[in-house]
Amino acid sequence: MTSLNETHNPALKSWVKSANAAGCDFPIQNLPFAVFRRQGSPEAFRGGVAIGDQILDLAAVAQAGVFKGEAAAAVQAGAQDKLNALMALGNAAWSALRLALSRALREAAVEQAALQACLVPQAEAQYDVPARIGDYTDFYTSVHHATNIGRLFRPDNPLLPNYKWVPIGYHGRASSIGISGQQFRRPVGQTLAPGATEPTLGPSKRLDIELELGIFIGSGNALGEAIDIAQAEDHVFGICLLNDWSARDIQGWEYQPLGPFLSKSFASTLSPWVVTLEALAPYRVPFTRPAEDPQPMAYLDSAANRSGGAFDIQLQVGLLTPKMRAAGQTDASICRTSYRHAYWTVAQMVTHHTVNGCNLQPGDLFGSGTLSGPTLDQAAALIELTAGGKNPMALPGGEQRTWLEDGDSVVLRGWCEKTGAARIGFGECVGTVLPARVPRV
Ligand code: MN
Repeated sequence: MTSLNETHNPALKSWVKSANAAGCDFPIQNLPFAVFRRQGSPEAFRGGVAIGDQILDLAAVAQAGVFKGEAAAAVQAGAQDKLNALMALGNAAWSALRLALSRALREAAVEQAALQACLVPQAEAQYDVPARIGDYTDFYTSVHHATNIGRLFRPDNPLLPNYKWVPIGYHGRASSIGISGQQFRRPVGQTLAPGATEPTLGPSKRLDIELELGIFIGSGNALGEAIDIAQAEDHVFGICLLNDWSARDIQGWEYQPLGPFLSKSFASTLSPWVVTLEALAPYRVPFTRPAEDPQPMAYLDSAANRSGGAFDIQLQVGLLTPKMRAAGQTDASICRTSYRHAYWTVAQMVTHHTVNGCNLQPGDLFGSGTLSGPTLDQAAALIELTAGGKNPMALPGGEQRTWLEDGDSVVLRGWCEKTGAARIGFGECVGTVLPARVPRV
């Protein structure tokens, strides 16, 4: 587990002035990674680090030869069109790079002149999915979400007995994961209308969001070898925002007995910036279980996981309808919650995923599962916010929404903030629903 070091000092300021502004997502204490190029250019995508409203271009930094040793090797790896090579280097290399970047971006750093020439404004950037994602695994780590969903299907027995013992997950689809700005067609699929005896094929009428965090695996493990919980976080490169769009009507018909399939695989959207676990160190919080619940089995338990295995990441969902967009309005907040309410930690997900010997690889992605908190205003999917579609939400301007409509955009935001630490943010994860293609019936 990463402890606090000089890179977390809240007094640090950068020579990139925009990084020092109050409320900035990307101060010098954050230093998240993305893959980018200039919009509309034929440039190759390459890794970059956010600082204020700028991106430090790792390919340019590599070419300029600014760093030495382990940090230089990490910059070389990060200069590629995907971050897999950097992810594979492991956490000593990520930490060496973070320290070198922190020192070189501080006020009065001797590297300022050389690095100034390596900055690209974020306003000019086009982003790409940060890694070649070999496998995507979606977990279900919010007990509040699991209970709310379970209640819709089984009012007297909402939570199945395995939930409090097993970090539940399923294998998702990697090919349809896109980057913020993603626009996707409303999915078409089989659904069974209430009271009907046969399904029909058509556009989903119950299109939903899932506010999740994406967890990028760094160094992997050999097939057949489990990752002990004491080392689990060493295998995690960082965390981003993830909207795991879901078609609830397709899901309701197809999911038994093997679980989600086409209701989930049409699109998932990531934020461009991946915040490292080291950057999140000030925001660790204890992992606790209610005394009446089963405590985690020994392989899912450690002193470090108990004392600081959870993260207090503030999360928000905004909805922007076509009417609001046309009126020049900003998105309306429909959910505010925190990652601290999750029932299982990142370390527990990694350890459980590998306990059977399954090998994780650099660039693999975990979804946290929909991160609903304990109260209705912290519900992180429309199916919960509208009680399964029964209670439409009122939006500013008099509109209502039960499910997503064509042209709707959803904006996820995440940040960490507390007294005594620098505020850091995740930026935004935006996705937009386009009309369905007309299916052949
Ligand atoms: Mn999901």
